[in-house]
Amino acid sequence: MAKKKKGRITIDKELCKACYLCIEACPNDLIEVSDKLNQKGYYPTLFTETDSRGNDRKCTACTLCAIVCPDVAIEVYRD
Ligand code: SF4
Ligand code: SF4
Repeated sequence: MAKKKKGRITIDKELCKACYLCIEACPNDLIEVSDKLNQKGYYPTLFTETDSRGNDRKCTACTLCAIVCPDVAIEVYRD
């Protein structure tokens, strides 16, 4: 069986202005709001899958989160 492509993202919490468009955009609900303020005084977003491994991961590197981010805070990687 072909291995399904997996992705992961990084969110630069200091670039994030807390518009939360990325949370709406992710089809797999992998982004949530941090409970810690950034230096600009916003609650930035967090990628929730950073600790999960291999086949458990749901991020498909679809890039929708990065495309909607007005502050270019999200980078998408394919593994
Ligand atoms: S879309 Fe960008 S600026 Fe908006 S909450 Fe997500 S990471 Fe932050
Ligand atoms: S790349 Fe797609 S699946 Fe992965 S976090 Fe962004 S919107 Fe969600």
